[in-house]
Amino acid sequence: MKTKIIFITGGVLSSLGKGVAAAAIGALLEARGLRVTFQKLDPYINVDPGTMNPFQHGEVYVTEDGAETDLDLGHYERYTSVTLAQEHNFTSGRIYYNVITKERRGDYLGGTVQVIPHITDEIKQSIMKVAPSADVAIIEIGGTVGDIESLPFLEAIRQLKGDLGKDNVCYIHLTLVPFIKTAGEVKTKPTQHSVKELRSIGIQPDILLCRTEKLLSQDIKAKIALFCNVEPAAVITAQDVDNIYKIPLLFHEEGLDDRLIEALNIWTRAPRLEVWQNLVERIKNPKHRVEIGIVGKYVDLRESYKSLHEALVHGGLANEAQVALTYIDSERVEREGPEGLLGHLHGILVPGGFGVRGVEGKILAIRYAREHKIPYFGICFGMQLAVVEFARHVAGIANATSEEFDTEAAHPVIYLMREWYDYRKDAIIRRDRAADKGGTMRLGAYPCVVTEGSLASAAYQETNLMERHRHRYEFNNQYREQLQNAGLAITGTSPNGELVEIIEIGDHPWFLGCQFHPEFKSRPLAPHPLFREYIRACLEYKLSHVKPDEEI
Ligand code: GLN
Repeated sequence: MKTKIIFITGGVLSSLGKGVAAAAIGALLEARGLRVTFQKLDPYINVDPGTMNPFQHGEVYVTEDGAETDLDLGHYERYTSVTLAQEHNFTSGRIYYNVITKERRGDYLGGTVQVIPHITDEIKQSIMKVAPSADVAIIEIGGTVGDIESLPFLEAIRQLKGDLGKDNVCYIHLTLVPFIKTAGEVKTKPTQHSVKELRSIGIQPDILLCRTEKLLSQDIKAKIALFCNVEPAAVITAQDVDNIYKIPLLFHEEGLDDRLIEALNIWTRAPRLEVWQNLVERIKNPKHRVEIGIVGKYVDLRESYKSLHEALVHGGLANEAQVALTYIDSERVEREGPEGLLGHLHGILVPGGFGVRGVEGKILAIRYAREHKIPYFGICFGMQLAVVEFARHVAGIANATSEEFDTEAAHPVIYLMREWYDYRKDAIIRRDRAADKGGTMRLGAYPCVVTEGSLASAAYQETNLMERHRHRYEFNNQYREQLQNAGLAITGTSPNGELVEIIEIGDHPWFLGCQFHPEFKSRPLAPHPLFREYIRACLEYKLSHVKPDEEI
């Protein structure tokens, strides 16, 4: 079969949910029996988002192969069965970097290197690296049409229609159709202007996805169709939803998947959407409700913990429970003490994080969870700090800390490991304290062996795991025996036993820390075992503290 590509561009403004829309389209096409793949093209100059502050750009999503990518790749993986990698996310920075590297190598010798054709050719090659691997490739262009930065990408995707043939390329443009309260009606002008902008650079969209508050009437669809030169049936309402997992079903009701296979001239079976219908039913009718507190630093921005948020929702789904999440600023816990902020919660979670600010508040929260026997889940930083807390308050190592905060620490129970065997690179890695920050993180999927009889093995029901990492510091084995003697259980390690991957403590309903990020592998149709079991423990904690009739 020919390579078929759906390009998704965005208009009017950002944050309209292009990534989720792309992912939902992937889900619909998979439901029709097609194999899909994805790519995100980001117009910014950073080579990857790894160095960007999550405040600015949201979560850094880590793939199996250890690429630090845009959070939209997380949506793509959650909605479909794909596993993505570095080549599924390109930025302008990476494109230019590749072109400049070739130029220095002498590949273009004699030629003037220009945006067209050199940058655009590099973009097209990047697209063609992934597109042929599936029946349909869904390729999302970051940013908004009209931005200076996105022009080379738009020019490249314009050219690809000519290269691949018109039956093989479909352009979807996502726009906003705002409802103006004072006028009491929806306005189509922003969409008209955005499409005009797109057409001025030679792209005629085939389908318009119109983000709105209300369903668009046939009249409005006809008007948009007329002004934007598309079929009325190709004007699709993308209505605001209270739950993002409804979107594949809503798009289907609007006929989006029919339009797509028409535009791409593909024959498929009717979509099988039972699993999505069933999922939406479960979301609508929870039997229980649990309240979980996430104690972190980037608390103002949910985008910074996108995958975590979703994984907790999935864990809830597996237990027929609605999960109410409260984001708690760890510096507030420091100032106000844990009782008032955390006392009412059914579960406490410290997620991944970097840097010393707010750390003591997180440690207070962990201590509170341990002493009050509230289910605790520590992820990466949250595991490291649980080790520090345990060392200080249970094992009696008063000034235990992590080298991340104090390079001269007397008792660095978490530290920069000087030498270890790296399973991904199949090499011994050596490092010292002076090692610079770039390129020193353990990134991507690493093997972990789980101890029988632990919370972890009860959750996973298997002993050999692969989980994704993104961190620099590790458990310090010099303190292993001392901490184990004080009651810390090490229930997951690298196959050679060298790297501590999971810790637990006994005499507690559920206290687990993992050095990896399980949230990256959770899907609504396959909740991650640790999140499933954590929410189950939170629910049990709640039920043992309230009368059953007070539930929900
Ligand atoms: N800051 C810690 C480290 O670098 C933890 C990182 C994380 O939580 N992702 O090891």
